[in-house]
Amino acid sequence: MHEEEQKVLVVLSGGQDSTTCLYWAIDRYGLAAVDTVTFDYGQRHRVELECAAKVAEFAGVSNTCLPIDTLAALGGDALTDPDIDVDSETDADTGLPNTFVPGRNLIFLTYAAALAYRRDIQNLVTGVAETDYSGYPDCREETIIALQQALRLGMESEVTIHTPLMHLSKKKTVELARDLGGLPAMAYTHTCYNGERPPCGQCPACVLRAKGFAEAGVNDPLVASA
Ligand SMILES: [Zn+2]
Repeated sequence: MHEEEQKVLVVLSGGQDSTTCLYWAIDRYGLAAVDTVTFDYGQRHRVELECAAKVAEFAGVSNTCLPIDTLAALGGDALTDPDIDVDSETDADTGLPNTFVPGRNLIFLTYAAALAYRRDIQNLVTGVAETDYSGYPDCREETIIALQQALRLGMESEVTIHTPLMHLSKKKTVELARDLGGLPAMAYTHTCYNGERPPCGQCPACVLRAKGFAEAGVNDPLVASA
């Protein structure tokens, strides 16, 4: 049973987690109710944008790419600045890895909520998770709940932010994707922080992804297709 007359907008990065969320949304609301949005925030690895478009096409949903130049203009993180290498160590002062882009998810979800408002969409889905992740504070449940409240007040709306992966380990996320029929789409996703296809297998994102698939006992279609 799909929730009647509800529409949903999935924030699709082209990665494993947001692709799993896409299949969660399709399962819950029905294919016709699902839209996706992808943000071009000046990420070094442009392949992410192509992957998001391919995943959406494969799944049979629309994909809107919105530009946000400001995060790259701020600089200082390894995901937008080509002069900074991805470091698996965390910063001694902040406890955060140098892939942290401050405020990224807050900004993404705010723009997503604005697009949802324009399209009369009541639900947002994001793949943020507290578990097994890099400890980004904008992925915490507390942050998302507070943001949802701010968006409801600030847009006079009843928007709901869904976070189906919030408390799932990478293993559980792989199992969820499998159970929802989302595995074939994983061949089009991108996770590698070094932007490599086939994935480098060495960076923190590749290591975490491989661990999740291994623990779930599932072959990663991205690696298998390489
Ligand atoms: Zn990698």
